[in-house]
Amino acid sequence: MLVYLNENIHPEAITELKKHAKITNDHMNTEIDAIIVRTEPVTREMMEHSKNLKVIGKHGIGYDNIDIDAAHDLGISVVYTPTANSQSVAELIITLLLNVTRNIIPNHRRLVQGETQTNAPNDLIGNELLGKKMGFIGLGNVALLTGDILRKGFSVDLLGYDPYVTTEKAASHGITKTESLQEMLPEVDFINVSVPLTESTKNIISMRELKMCKKSAILINTSRGGTVNERDLYVALSNNILKAAASDVFNIEPPRKDHPLLSLDNFIATPHIGASTDEAMYRMGKTVVQEVISVLNG
Ligand code: NAD
Repeated sequence: MLVYLNENIHPEAITELKKHAKITNDHMNTEIDAIIVRTEPVTREMMEHSKNLKVIGKHGIGYDNIDIDAAHDLGISVVYTPTANSQSVAELIITLLLNVTRNIIPNHRRLVQGETQTNAPNDLIGNELLGKKMGFIGLGNVALLTGDILRKGFSVDLLGYDPYVTTEKAASHGITKTESLQEMLPEVDFINVSVPLTESTKNIISMRELKMCKKSAILINTSRGGTVNERDLYVALSNNILKAAASDVFNIEPPRKDHPLLSLDNFIATPHIGASTDEAMYRMGKTVVQEVISVLNG
C-alpha cells in the first residue's frame, strides 16, 4: 500500500505507518492508496489523479482543507481525529485569556525596559476571571473542555450558543444554552469561538455581533480564520467597541507582518499553535494512522 504524506507527524506514528505501507511525498504518483494531511489542501483534481485512492486521513479536526464533496462524489472515505487535540486547544484558550486579562505581554515589555510593578501605570492593572461570564460560540469538544476548566478552576459562569447541541447536553457541563448570539453576547465578559469553518460560520462574528458585545468584552478565537471578520475586528478594537482580542488563526496564514491587527496593543496572536503539543501530536498521529490503515484493510 502507498500513502502520500508530506507534512511532519509524530515519529511513532510514522513507524506504525511504515509497518503497513510505503510512504511517498509525490502527490502526482498515480498509485497512491491513501493521503494523510495536516493543513495541505486536498483538491478534487488530486483525488481524481490517484486512481487507487480509498481514504484521506486528516491529522486534526478542522477538515476544511479537504474537498469533502469531491471525496463523497468519488466514494473516497475521509477520516479525522476528533478529541485528539481538544485538551491542547482548551489549554491555549485559557492561556490566551489569562494573557489578555493580566496584560502579560505589555507587562513583560515594561519589565524588560526597567519599569517595576510599583511604578507601572494603571493601564496595566488586570482583571480576575473569578465570577465573570464566558459565552461559547460552538459547544463541541474544545468548548466543553474549556468550560469545565473555567467553571471548576475559576468559578466562571458559562453561556453557550450552538444550534446543534441540546440544552440538556450543555447543562450537563454547567452551560446555559442561549438560542441566539443576540441573546448571549450582551451578557458575557469573554467570548470564545470554537466552530468549524463552514458557510454558516463564515463571519459569524462581524460588526453587527461586535456591537452587541460589552465594550469591556474580550474575544478569543482558536477556530479558523474567516469565522471572525478581521476588518470588523480591527475597527472594533480601534474604536472602543471591544476591549481586546486574541487569535490563533488568520484568514491567510501566516499573516503578513503589516497585518493591521498586529499593530494594535489590545490584540495578541499565536501562529496556529492550538494543537502544537507533544501530547496532541502523538494522539493525532497515532489515531490518523490507525484510522487510515483500518479503512485500507477493509
Ligand atoms: P467540534 O466538531 O467538536 O465542535 C464544533 C461545534 O461547532 C459543534 O458542536 C457544532 O455543532 C458547532 N457549530 C457548527 N456550526 C455552528 C454554528 N453555525 N453556530 C454555532 N455552533 C456551530 O470541534 P472542536 O474540536 O470543538 O474544534 C472546533 C474547531 O476548532 C474545529 O472545527 C477546528 O476548525 C478548530 N481547531 C483549531 C485548532 C488550532 O490549532 N487552532 C485545533 C483544533 C481545532
